Order: sequence, then C-alpha cells, then structure tokens
Amino acid sequence: MHESSFPIGYSVRVTDWLTVDQRRRVMQAVKGKDTGPELTVRRIVHRLGYRYRLHSKGLPGRPDLVFGPRKKVIFVHGCFWHAHNCRYGRMPESRQEYWVPKLIGNMERDKANVAKLEAMGWKVLTVWECEVKKTAELVDRINDFLADQPRPRETEQ
Ligand SMILES: [Zn+2]
Repeated sequence: MHESSFPIGYSVRVTDWLTVDQRRRVMQAVKGKDTGPELTVRRIVHRLGYRYRLHSKGLPGRPDLVFGPRKKVIFVHGCFWHAHNCRYGRMPESRQEYWVPKLIGNMERDKANVAKLEAMGWKVLTVWECEVKKTAELVDRINDFLADQPRPRETEQ
C-alpha cells in the first residue's frame, strides 16, 4: 500500500463503518494496555487507519489529535482537571477557594476553545478519561466522528 502518497490525516480506508470483526481487532490492540487515556485514544485512531498530528500549536487549546485535511480535532481530557460532570470530576473538599476558580476556569477555557475551533470550521470531539475504559463504545464514537459518512443504522448485531 502506498500510504505515503496520502496527505497526513487522510484515511486510506475504503469503508467508513466498522464490522464486528474490525471493531474486535481494534479493541484487542488496546486491551490490557493501561498507558493512560491519551495513548489509548491514539492507539485506537491508529488502528482505525487515520493519520493525525499531535498538539498542533496553531489551534485554540492545542488539541491532542489533529486531523488536518478533515478539519477535525480530538481532545482527551482528564476528568478532574477539566471538571467533568462525573464522579471523577468532583470539586475537592479542601481548599475550595483555590480549586473551584481554577477548575471552573479550565472548564470555561475548554468551552471557549471549542467555540473558537467550531467558528473556524473545525469539528471537535472531546473524549473524557472516564469514557476510555468503555472501549467498544469509544471505538465506535471515534470511528463515527472521523468517518466521512455516517454509519448506516444497525446493520449488524
Ligand atoms: Zn469523567
């Protein structure tokens, strides 16, 4: 395969949706490797056959993965630091005068960055740390986000 002739970020795949078998293979590449949320996402994206750049400095919020030709970016956020609305994103009990403004500030900055990116025509997917363990859902979400065409409605079980 002459993958190098494709521009960075461009898929070399023929189909945009995954078969049960393809999903299983992607999941196997990730399973049991606890390398942190960002590496897990990168590994999934790589196995799905997409090319990306890391932490592109020119974009608001320096997105973790950038798919230039597709104008899509993925953020991988830690639930605590980015104040996710989940049990890992709770405000600390102590030193709230320090933590609350800091974490709310992070959250507001994230929102502003997403708004800026969208205004520039980028599509944004945020993957939360707490979602990374649910690999099957995550693989589908990432694949649906990166695909050019939406997945056909449940054709497989
Ligand atoms: Zn979370």
